[in-house]
Amino acid sequence: MANLKYLEDHIIEFKDLPKEAVVKQDILRDGLDFSLDSLKIAKGYKPKDYFIFSFDLVPIKDMKKEENLNAPEEIKISGGIFDLKKTVISVRLNPKSPYKVDLLEGRLIISLNDEYLADVEYHPVPVFYHKKLSNGKKISEIAPVLEWGYLVYLTVYRMCQYFNKEEQCQFCDLNKNYKQQRESGRDYTGVKSLDEILEALELIAEEDTISKAITLTGGSIITGLQNKTEVEFYAPYAKAIHDRFGDRWLIKAVVQAYEKSECQILKDSGVSIYHPNFEVWDKDLWPQICPGKTRWIGREEWMKRIVDSAEIFGPENVIPNFVGGVEMNKNYGYTDVDQAIASTKEGLEFFMSKKIMPRFTSWCPEPYAKLGPQEAPKLEYFMKLLRVFRETFHKHDLPNPKGYGPTGPGNAVFSVSAFMDVL
Ligand code: SF4
Repeated sequence: MANLKYLEDHIIEFKDLPKEAVVKQDILRDGLDFSLDSLKIAKGYKPKDYFIFSFDLVPIKDMKKEENLNAPEEIKISGGIFDLKKTVISVRLNPKSPYKVDLLEGRLIISLNDEYLADVEYHPVPVFYHKKLSNGKKISEIAPVLEWGYLVYLTVYRMCQYFNKEEQCQFCDLNKNYKQQRESGRDYTGVKSLDEILEALELIAEEDTISKAITLTGGSIITGLQNKTEVEFYAPYAKAIHDRFGDRWLIKAVVQAYEKSECQILKDSGVSIYHPNFEVWDKDLWPQICPGKTRWIGREEWMKRIVDSAEIFGPENVIPNFVGGVEMNKNYGYTDVDQAIASTKEGLEFFMSKKIMPRFTSWCPEPYAKLGPQEAPKLEYFMKLLRVFRETFHKHDLPNPKGYGPTGPGNAVFSVSAFMDVL
């Protein structure tokens, strides 16, 4: 059971890593509960916009306080008993979490099992959020921001065709989340048109000076969408954004692993950072966790394409994501932390030795993902992952990742893992 002593023990054991990273990773593991008062206050701040997956530990139907409508996208914690620097953390809703945001004598705080841990801030509503598109849609639905305003997140296709034959990545709830959001009454656009994306960005560009990067993404397209292949579907968005706004934003694309000719199309359309997510390293777990990617492309080919794509984008601009912790899933994953870390270390070494820049998000065991709801891996796992990530990063003398904002405790804004907090 997490308590202050448990956090303190981890801070001591991993004293080579920032204490902010310890607290952040544990809050991401357990999710967050909110008191009714803290949710009332949140109404005046930037809400959770469900920018792609649910990233919650319970389904909406179990949110008795309507947290899905009222909770903030992120919290920023600071001070408190560990004298933390300001630390941005993504909100993963879990009414049973030992971490609770509450209002104490008029100020927002976070407690751990009812003991005061730190002070909390919410992200102000971005200045452009009050605007609507000409078709009546909210900007927050078409072009939400996260990472404390740094990133505009464009999920232009809210479905993934790997779900069609139940071959989705086993940690992923994309299509199921789409369904639950629609059922809950949220306006949630399945395919965002190029016109509405450009109009939303136009409205953002008029007033905003904080956002620096755009993520362009959506589900995998296997059998075509609007008579287009995946790259034919996504590349025109990047091209239109780049043609209209030039270098106003760094454009990142999270898509499948493409052959070189398709990478070139993406690059020519204005994409600077390429994310052909690898998800998990272990060669036996890969086909179990990524059955669709296995059947359509395969692990060896996916790896080859990542390596080849470095010739197009430059290795440091190829950033394949790992879903940190999914190799320890309780269904068929590693049971030993050190063995899991050794496996992922091999993957980091493979890519980083080629100057390719893998990064990780923290696995969120969402209830509607195939792996099902379960406890996240131990905090020890995440701290060892951060340690090995940083060691390998320095060993290969990689530059700070582009498109993720500042690094280091007190500065990092990347909110779904502490990998930027430890650099
Ligand atoms: S490729 Fe995998 S992780 Fe990405 S949307 Fe499809 S199923 Fe989800």
